[in-house]
Amino acid sequence: MKRTYPDYYDDFVCIADKCPETCCAGWQIEIDKDALKRYRDKKIETVDFKHECFYQDKEKRCKNLNEKGLCKLILEHGEDILCNTCRLFPRHIEEFENVREYSLSISCPEVAQYLLKRKEPVTYRTVEDSEADTEEYDTEEQLVYIKLFSLREEFFKIVLNRTLSFAEKTGRILAIAREFQNQADDVLLSDGDIESVDVEGAIAADYKPLEINADHRYELFKVMKKWEYTGDEFKEVLKTTEKALYKDCPQDEAALDQEMRASLSSQGMDWDIVTEQILHYFLYIYFCGSAYDEYYYGQAQLAVAACLHLKDFALAHFKTHGAISTEDVIYFTYLYARELEHSVPNVLATERYMDEHPLIDT
Ligand code: SF4
Repeated sequence: MKRTYPDYYDDFVCIADKCPETCCAGWQIEIDKDALKRYRDKKIETVDFKHECFYQDKEKRCKNLNEKGLCKLILEHGEDILCNTCRLFPRHIEEFENVREYSLSISCPEVAQYLLKRKEPVTYRTVEDSEADTEEYDTEEQLVYIKLFSLREEFFKIVLNRTLSFAEKTGRILAIAREFQNQADDVLLSDGDIESVDVEGAIAADYKPLEINADHRYELFKVMKKWEYTGDEFKEVLKTTEKALYKDCPQDEAALDQEMRASLSSQGMDWDIVTEQILHYFLYIYFCGSAYDEYYYGQAQLAVAACLHLKDFALAHFKTHGAISTEDVIYFTYLYARELEHSVPNVLATERYMDEHPLIDT
């Protein structure tokens, strides 16, 4: 089995009671069958056996959390008692035939702060071991994965090219993903051979730097208003952002953008590098997984939308408060990832909107 890890994977340590936004609140934690059996045997009272999750209090905090923010299950029974969800978070694994791609989710504040404070690009290491893959795979999906892997390598080169602007990077990535999508759709419709989809042809696709007018951007922003939420914090961010950026007009956005960047730069944070890390992160984790839902262009658009949404939050915060800190950017990032990455309906709603209103012209 080949296993790929981002270079910071092994350095992650959960900060538990010092975490500003524990992962044990807001969402329902699904419990796997083995853990359910353990909990049943030990008669753990915080488990909702009917719905296979933990009970939560009125604030949607897991009932296992004590007043110090520590897990009572671990304190009483040790880490081995944990279900897979609790044991693994924020680790995420994408599975392909004889390949596992590991990552750490930026919905964890500790991961978000590490990634966003980092200046150099993330690198990946692949190790191979003798473990056999026992899962069954659809051959065609795995052929697509190999092609998507090549495309993603190209995306990484584009994303990490610091001579290119965000508009150039994203215009090019979207054009490549769309061309690949069009070719793959044609093959599917004609019952053709997926092998005939031309990766090099897609990489050579014509492109223009990404340009999104104010109306389109507002509509893309409004998609988030239809999401399901884990709590009220994100709703507050949306309210403030909408008021500052889209209701209290007019504004000189270019000037606002420059001032926001200058403010972050004075604290050692480069907005272009923040965007590079976010784009790189989303493409690494999710692009190849589109081999399973055949919506390759959708995943590329989602990565770009994440950068646009986060920029909205940062600009609005700067406009509202006349200041922004690196901690604010980190906060918006993990809050956003929390609402998007772990909610299939939110991902689908965003993809659906961009399907109907593509970020680049068709
Ligand atoms: S969000 Fe991250 S740092 Fe916070 S409690 Fe969960 S794993 Fe630990």
